[in-house]
Amino acid sequence: MAPKDLLENNCHDNGFLLSFDDGLQEVYTEIYPILKKKNIKAIFFINPNFIGNKEGLYKHYISIIIVYLKKNNFEKELLEAIAKIFSFTYNGIEEFKQKFTSIKFDESEKVNEVLNLLNINIEDYLEKHKPYITKEQIQEMIKDGFYFGGHTMTHPPLIQLSHEEQKAEIIDSINWLKHNFDINYSFFSFPFSDRSISKKILEELLEYDSNIKIFGNSGLKKDMDERIIQRFSLENPAKRIEKRIVEENLYKYFNKVIGKYHIKRK
Ligand SMILES: [Zn+2]
Repeated sequence: MAPKDLLENNCHDNGFLLSFDDGLQEVYTEIYPILKKKNIKAIFFINPNFIGNKEGLYKHYISIIIVYLKKNNFEKELLEAIAKIFSFTYNGIEEFKQKFTSIKFDESEKVNEVLNLLNINIEDYLEKHKPYITKEQIQEMIKDGFYFGGHTMTHPPLIQLSHEEQKAEIIDSINWLKHNFDINYSFFSFPFSDRSISKKILEELLEYDSNIKIFGNSGLKKDMDERIIQRFSLENPAKRIEKRIVEENLYKYFNKVIGKYHIKRK
């Protein structure tokens, strides 16, 4: 199924649609060439604030820091200093990585402290490595028939923001695409999770564009409106895709049996 079919409300029962969140550089260097060769059109969800490579997401900064630590053979003093900043304890490198990568958004400011500690100049890093796709790359992909959608401006945990702030983060990201490219459709995917997103926000988005398609990641479920599409993640490379698809479909039947197939919004 192509994104175009979705916009024309022309969906098949057993169709599938691929989408990729966050707009990292690999979308352009790895995924785009493969999909182009296989003639599969996908949707890419991006955060406009990161597109210029002037700022990035704290989770991605953590990856940059882990690569740096690896280069330094996970020097004990460095790990201890970082664990102290976040007040966690760990037993071995794997547990350190696990705890460091699962820090919460409200601790994201402290990631800058770590960058300072390690003398990593993040502005230089972003400028040099360009971890996010650029406007030129987006333009090229759109010309090739690929679709883009908003993923909020800055990838915040929406539930921590006020109603108005949430709405601005979401709608500004969709409008940014419309203003910068020849896009007249509205696609949006929720950052982190769509759980706890209010019915009011969803209703306002459906009102903003009556043909909007909103994407969540709650698995194969039915949401309060047909225009809200639930996805499941295939991003763990350790899991075989065929197996994941079967698992998710079995889980769908299980949810139907226990009455959790329909998502209730408050
Ligand atoms: Zn995301």
